[in-house]
Amino acid sequence: MLDADFFRRWMTAAAASVDREAEWLTALDSPIGDADHGSNLRRGFRAVTATLEKEAPDTPGAVLQLAGRQLISTVGGASGPLYGTLLRRTGKTFGDAAEVSQEQLAQALRAGVDAVMALGGAAPGDKTMVDALVPSVDALGISFEAARAAAEEGAVATTPLQARKGRASYLGERSIGHQDPGATSSALLIAALVEAAG
Ligand code: ADP
Ligand code: MG
Ligand code: MG
Repeated sequence: MLDADFFRRWMTAAAASVDREAEWLTALDSPIGDADHGSNLRRGFRAVTATLEKEAPDTPGAVLQLAGRQLISTVGGASGPLYGTLLRRTGKTFGDAAEVSQEQLAQALRAGVDAVMALGGAAPGDKTMVDALVPSVDALGISFEAARAAAEEGAVATTPLQARKGRASYLGERSIGHQDPGATSSALLIAALVEAAG
């Protein structure tokens, strides 16, 4: 079973990974965006870990809802509300359970990803974070490791796509040939989840 501590470890691992890879994420956001994705997420996840330490929420749902609120209020840019919604909806789905199963996590993340698609209007194939999140959440029904691999493959598979949502879509065909920064950070967040489970 996965408790509040597990979800805190996920957020801490995510913050560390975003910190390590911020320059790379920003570099990916340079040819098809405005070169701020790494700095946006670094600011957001630093705020998440600081708030989790201060407020010490004690259920999985409370951890993720607090983290989501922090991302929404501190990340300037499209990715803040989208990742914030992912975490808030996932957390809300847990209710006030003290522990959740891997199966419940997979179901709640599915609800979270559906909320991201409803908010941003992106579907798989539009060259966004959705391209990493959807296959990954599907694979979480199999195993954490499968979820990690699927997110990674989903991110890499955005390269030949033409963006249909977000800033990159303004480039039309010129968005082809670049890996999507948001799909890449989604793969990092899923890898951090698997690390927390390890
Ligand atoms: P901004 O584009 O506002 O500078 P970021 O650079 O932080 O925001 O995030 C860009 C990423 O957000 C994109 O690479 C893409 O994956 C994701 N994104 C943008 N718009 C959408 C959307 N409508 N639906 C899903 N993801 C989106
Ligand atoms: Mg950007
Ligand atoms: Mg921006």
